[in-house]
Amino acid sequence: MSAIENLIANTIREDVRNIASYHVPDASGYIKLDAMENPYQLPDALRAELGQRLADAALNRYPVASYATLKQKICAGLGVPAGYDVLLGNGSDELISIMATAVARQQLGAEMRRAVIMAPTPAFVMFSRSAQFAGADFVGVPVKADFSLDLPAMLAAIEQHKPALVFLAYPNNPTGNLFDADDMVAIIRALGETGIAVVDEAYQPFAKKSFMGRLPEFPNLVVMRTLSKLGLAGIRLGYLSGDAKLLEQFEKVRPPYNVNVLTQVAAEFALDHLEVLDSQAEMLNAERARLAAELAALPGVEVFPSAANFISLRVPDADKVCAQLRSEKVLIKNLSKMDKVLANCIRVTVSTPEENTAFLTALKASL
Ligand code: PMP
Repeated sequence: MSAIENLIANTIREDVRNIASYHVPDASGYIKLDAMENPYQLPDALRAELGQRLADAALNRYPVASYATLKQKICAGLGVPAGYDVLLGNGSDELISIMATAVARQQLGAEMRRAVIMAPTPAFVMFSRSAQFAGADFVGVPVKADFSLDLPAMLAAIEQHKPALVFLAYPNNPTGNLFDADDMVAIIRALGETGIAVVDEAYQPFAKKSFMGRLPEFPNLVVMRTLSKLGLAGIRLGYLSGDAKLLEQFEKVRPPYNVNVLTQVAAEFALDHLEVLDSQAEMLNAERARLAAELAALPGVEVFPSAANFISLRVPDADKVCAQLRSEKVLIKNLSKMDKVLANCIRVTVSTPEENTAFLTALKASL
């Protein structure tokens, strides 16, 4: 082995050495329908105004440490209940990692142990990755064939493993469906005083349904959201709401100044123009309905219900479809190898009418 290989073997954790890094395919020249981005920019006049604000931002200074103005705009504009604050993250990815780190080692009764972090699977990949990196154990509980929660299995797994954190994405990624709200409440109640339920509402701008208003009912509930899917994936801003005493604990793990000055300025600006982003979400929801109807009419294709800005579907041969779409310069996500319930499933982001039509045309040709 070379000196650098020895160094790596002697220093880098084995579980890190043995995994591949989070893979994002190069998308230049492609119609990019693999990452649930909003295809629309802000209108030109707003972009010009934002440009001026960004030019005026004090890049020589650290961000204002309290993020008071940004937090106030989030709470007022995005439905955070009165009396609740938010914790900010560099994307909700960072909030997931902060929570996993904060719970990773757990004193449960007399026992000190690696904490268990749980989610129904298939799930957003960062739930298990963050658990692993934090040194906690991840337990996935398979959903049913229709992607709904297997409530008895979830409750049994909670009883058995006493998870410190349970992630429930609402709607779920990569499947797109909303779990039954009563099932979710049963899980939150079962966790009681030994586990925190994280309802991940990354796709709330499209689903419109939310647990945010129910925070006062459940002290062990936190609700996580992001500006990414709303149209600001590039600025990386996630927020988490929940009981102030609980957020205070997560706050200790948050890296200082994790939300940078440019993000702060851009987010505050966008929050003053939420109606623009909301109307883009409306357009995407209308396109989701059109795309779902056209897909459902294709022979051999099974379309799953979605409340998000993407649609999951089963095709006769996902590898072939993805390869052919790629040759037509359309990037989608092949879910086939992720989980056995997703055999021959693919996921496509809802985009502009033109891009959706290009996808449909390429898909039809590939079937
Ligand atoms: N949660 C879910 C369910 C997601 O699908 C994603 C992004 N794909 C995220 C969280 C992370 O979003 P971000 O870091 O951009 O806020």
